[in-house]
Amino acid sequence: MSNVTHNTAPAATGAHTGATMVFVTGGVVSSLGKGVIASSLGRLLQNRGFRITIQKFDPYINVDPGTLNPNEHGECYVTVDGYECDLDLGHYERFTDIKTTRSNSFTTGRIYQEVIDRERKGEYGGKTVQVVPHVTDAIKQNMLRNAQNPDLDFVITEIGGTVGDIEGLPFLEAIRQLKWELGDRAIVVHLAYVPYIAAAGELKTKPTQHSVKQLQSYGIQPDCIVLRSEHPLSADLRRKVASFCNVHPDYVLHSPDVPSIYALPVKMHEEGLGDVILRLAGYSDLASLPVVESHDRWHRFVEMRAAATEELHIGFVGKYDLQDAYKSITESLLIAGVYKGRKVKCHFIDAEKISEDNVAELFSPSYVGEGWGGPCQGYVICPGFGDRGIEGKITAARYLREHDLPTLGICLGMQVMAIEFARNVLGYAAHSTEFVPTTEHPVIDMMEEQKSRVYLGATMRLGAYECELREGSRARATYGKALIAERHRHRYELNSRYVSELEQAGLQCVGQNPQTGLVEIVELPDHRWYLGTQFHPEYGSTVLHPHPLFLAFLGAVLGE
Ligand code: GLN
Repeated sequence: MSNVTHNTAPAATGAHTGATMVFVTGGVVSSLGKGVIASSLGRLLQNRGFRITIQKFDPYINVDPGTLNPNEHGECYVTVDGYECDLDLGHYERFTDIKTTRSNSFTTGRIYQEVIDRERKGEYGGKTVQVVPHVTDAIKQNMLRNAQNPDLDFVITEIGGTVGDIEGLPFLEAIRQLKWELGDRAIVVHLAYVPYIAAAGELKTKPTQHSVKQLQSYGIQPDCIVLRSEHPLSADLRRKVASFCNVHPDYVLHSPDVPSIYALPVKMHEEGLGDVILRLAGYSDLASLPVVESHDRWHRFVEMRAAATEELHIGFVGKYDLQDAYKSITESLLIAGVYKGRKVKCHFIDAEKISEDNVAELFSPSYVGEGWGGPCQGYVICPGFGDRGIEGKITAARYLREHDLPTLGICLGMQVMAIEFARNVLGYAAHSTEFVPTTEHPVIDMMEEQKSRVYLGATMRLGAYECELREGSRARATYGKALIAERHRHRYELNSRYVSELEQAGLQCVGQNPQTGLVEIVELPDHRWYLGTQFHPEYGSTVLHPHPLFLAFLGAVLGE
């Protein structure tokens, strides 16, 4: 920030230099939207010209969420450098356009693994290794890593879970110490819930008071309290929370219900969240700070979203019914829809229930059935692992291809497109060796050098890889350039032995990795839209930069 004087007092110990740290904790109940508040704050600070990143510390013991069931934990998000992490990092990227990395996501398991590795190497010099100070020191070091980046002004740190959870304690102890060490350069925002008790006809602040007391009992005084409530909060109520919780009344804010999460930065801007944090960080002359162009662009997006009332229905051929399991895909479509003036609605079509007997009915343009009761206008064949629902996906792919219905295949979805084409056009008994290791025609197979690695996760192609797009292809026209890089998360590949046969029969392999020749994109050029990607375009789609593939897919659905 060249035109800003940073008035923050020097850190208490003088030991750290770098960005201001903002910690976001949650109280009362889970699912209050800490990730979306952290993301909104990031966007608001960016809108005043500051450079930020957002990181998440999760209290669970899995080393990373890569092996968690998406039905239980939601989608596994992947960073450009190939780290499998919590879906909240997807919110961070969609809201702020930052590119997160493995240094933006930590779990208790990862911290303990680091500490135990050090212990095994003898790095603790014979000392008893303990939660305090060894685990808390490891947490602090990792929390501070991004803060030491001279290109950042603010590092927002979201703490997973709810204050009071046993497993969250070491993280809170680390924050207590950092607050002491960093002085004004460490700010704590506490998100709590204010329920409405119908019988009393009243909003209750007691749960918030208790959660703040709990935080205080760990030695942490929040600087700002954000009250999540579906109801308007009076000035009196805010004053009450302020005086019981030792927080300035201006720093008690309301996070109301919003029509979409993307309206939250606008609401929180009105509430003054960005300004409160800047004041706490020592910026006194807020009027002199710029309001950069992204502020207006974000507001325009929210207006466009509200104006886009005509619905567009997209069917998800998948096996996880929880909407969070395909979070980045649904959000990418929703965002692209706004730019197309449409309100995208995603519908789950359970692949396990698709058969030859019902496929024509399920995908027919006159479908009137379960769920919302009408046909979809475009389809996504979803990513996934394991064979549950695989034959249903293949059956669906055949129908969608043969009836020229706009279809986007993502990762396993692209593999399904290739298997189906090999079966029904080339006439091969084709499959992926993921599902039938002895298949006669392994159209999808594992590469030789991957086979020797044994641990789950270790054999995966993860993170961003380059892809060269063929001149004249749909993909090339969509991206408007020849070389792209997209994120991957898969173990199997389209087998190069089948490429020329597939192409001769019509399925063009128009995207290839320039180093390895691995197939990244297949498409049927004579179809309205029948395109599959081995990579995950959804990880790279943001509110201000919607992904070209999702825009073009919806364009094709709309007949543009
Ligand atoms: N299961 C497939 C593979 O490992 C696809 C993975 C995915 O869809 N993310 O290659």
